[in-house]
Amino acid sequence: AREYERYRDRTPNSAEMAEELREVVPAGVCSTFRAYEPYPIHADRAAGTTIYDVDGNELLDFALNNGTQLVGHTHPELDDAVVEQIDRGTLYTRPSDRLEFAAQPLIDRWDAIEQVRFTNSGTEAVMHATRLARAYTGREKVIRMEGAYHGAHDPALVSKMPPLEQAGPADDPRRVRESQGVPESVPEDVLLAQYNDAESVEALLREHGPEVAAILVEPACLNLGLAEPEDGFLERLRELADEYNVVLLFDEVKTGVKLAPGGGAEYYGVEPDIVALAKAIGGGYPVGAFGGRREIMERIAADLDDGVATGAAHYGTYNGNPLVLCAVGVTLREILTEDAYDHVSDLNERLAAGYRDVIEDAGLEAQVKTAGSQGAVHFTDEPIRTFRDWQHVDEEFHEAYWIGMVNRDVVPHPHDASQQWTISVQHTAEEIDAHVEAFADLATHLF
Ligand code: PLP
Repeated sequence: AREYERYRDRTPNSAEMAEELREVVPAGVCSTFRAYEPYPIHADRAAGTTIYDVDGNELLDFALNNGTQLVGHTHPELDDAVVEQIDRGTLYTRPSDRLEFAAQPLIDRWDAIEQVRFTNSGTEAVMHATRLARAYTGREKVIRMEGAYHGAHDPALVSKMPPLEQAGPADDPRRVRESQGVPESVPEDVLLAQYNDAESVEALLREHGPEVAAILVEPACLNLGLAEPEDGFLERLRELADEYNVVLLFDEVKTGVKLAPGGGAEYYGVEPDIVALAKAIGGGYPVGAFGGRREIMERIAADLDDGVATGAAHYGTYNGNPLVLCAVGVTLREILTEDAYDHVSDLNERLAAGYRDVIEDAGLEAQVKTAGSQGAVHFTDEPIRTFRDWQHVDEEFHEAYWIGMVNRDVVPHPHDASQQWTISVQHTAEEIDAHVEAFADLATHLF
């Protein structure tokens, strides 16, 4: 309660803006995830690794727009390139040299990607990749992991994090529609397995194999903080996909270019058939992409026959707009270099080591995880392997931690226990130490 009081004391302008905005924008935000109690911090501007809020607070940012800004805010190289592109036009609904500029580095980074199409968000990337998998296999059902988030389209809102009392048993989970407005028919094509349990996937394939188009999975489940695949899990999914002629579709919206240059596929050494990407590939610009082997990608409709797509339709006015493609190309070719990856993973280990020391000194029940530029603290000693393990996490404690950190001028990660921090190329060792100091101070005063 004291931390909430402090939060309110520090942010009167955010409070006022929240009230005003609620009049014109439902809940005062443009994504349901962004609303939280008592009200979100309202941004004035962002630069480098800092968010400047409307109350004059300067917050060290490790949330980085849900991990989108691996390059940090206002990266000078990226800003310069985008400004130059603005002078050449911000939108052409026709191909340009920017397309190859953005596509090639993705093809270079993922062995699985021979061709790629661009979208405007991760939701669109997963949605179109799924449609493509259906077109390619001629089947309709998709196996997904309970508790995983794959975007805001209808099927992705089935059991993304269902309340346990509605979820049924782990070995036969109920498909819970987590939004009003999702039609009753939508869950029919969603089959739920458990992350890190290849047997649960195999059981579904044994029963429904000939109807299954794809296994959709994040290589590391980043909706459970940082749940990594256990040895053999992704490899077994690869084998099962081959055995049942099913597309292995990696949702690398969050893991892509953040765990390693070639995302989770490279980090864990397993090759999918289709990869869905977004977020960090665009350095903060609204982008998504999906790519795969030529044989699969060529199922995307080349044209229309009497108005009907000759393969999987992929439309979109803003798809592959030159401004965003410019951002993708510069981000991947010039900013996210090998040295940049060394920098972020070194700093990530430094942060994790600092957290572990504080946790030990304070005797907290918590664990710290890292992978590439990503890290998370879970307030439980229990292992988090599957969605069902998430119930062990002390979310109330986590909430106090998050608010307490913001009060100490550090946004440790996006507001939700299920999220993770991102170390950007612009963070410094001093900033990592400041983050750890804030956590140590919080541990002394709060826990
Ligand atoms: N897939 C995963 C794994 C995500 O984490 C997200 C967003 O957080 C999405 C898809 C949807 O991406 P977007 O928010 O760009 O639509």
